[in-house]
Amino acid sequence: MGAKKIILAESAGVCFGVERALDKSLQIVEGKGDGEQVYSLGPIIHNPQVVKRLEEKGVKVIGRLREVDKGTVMIRAHGVPVNTRAEARRRGLSVVDLTCPIVKKLQHSVKKLTEEGYFVIIVGDKHHPEIIGAISYADHESVVVVSGGDELAPEVFEHKRVGVVAQTTIAFDKFREVVDDLLIREVPEVKVFNTICGDIYNKQREAVEIAEKVDLMFVIGGKNSSNTTKIAKLCSEVNLHTYQIETLHEINALGLDLVDKTIGVTAGASTPSWIINEILNGLSG
Ligand code: SF4
Repeated sequence: MGAKKIILAESAGVCFGVERALDKSLQIVEGKGDGEQVYSLGPIIHNPQVVKRLEEKGVKVIGRLREVDKGTVMIRAHGVPVNTRAEARRRGLSVVDLTCPIVKKLQHSVKKLTEEGYFVIIVGDKHHPEIIGAISYADHESVVVVSGGDELAPEVFEHKRVGVVAQTTIAFDKFREVVDDLLIREVPEVKVFNTICGDIYNKQREAVEIAEKVDLMFVIGGKNSSNTTKIAKLCSEVNLHTYQIETLHEINALGLDLVDKTIGVTAGASTPSWIINEILNGLSG
């Protein structure tokens, strides 16, 4: 393709939580010599190419526990609602919990704030599986999910004690915006647990730095990956020629003129190195 220069983000690619989930799921499926079926409750990570590889090795993705009544079920890195493990065991399934420790910190923070009597604000996407899991650790009367300060309802400011946590992949500015609003509106007690994942924060910061100085920016990762989509959004705010792509084939299909261009490349936390390398080789070929 003849790119002039490619700048690859040092932070590009798989985080430790995803690596851990992938390694363990491979160990489990490869160690099952007894023919017992291995399931993942939802895709193990938000990357279709990786999920396809695991399916080829025998992992079946299910949407609900009630679809199966025997075998091993893996809980993915995003975590699940509080009752899911018990429900799986009730159904006679073996459970392997691959929830990322940083997601567990978010779940425990919600639980702790709830036990201490705080009204809990989770800054994030209410439809994301991580948040569907985390919210179950609160009393449903005393928790709200907002994506930013503009979604805070007036009643929220009437609480005397408010706790704030964040989806692990949320942009730091959105989190701070909510905390700032609570302080500005003089909520008497605000307790904040910064549950943003450090890996994601670094990825976002470095990606924007690179996007600012290149002709084009490619952000590699699943279209269904929340952290990849956020990185791409942040990059597109500083570089209009930002493209979120999953494969080299997609870059080719865009028909871009890459000759003599400086190209920035980064990848979301669920993008394995073999996909990044395939794309780098294609770009420099
Ligand atoms: S991005 Fe962070 S929170 Fe999410 S799985 Fe990776 S390490 Fe865990």
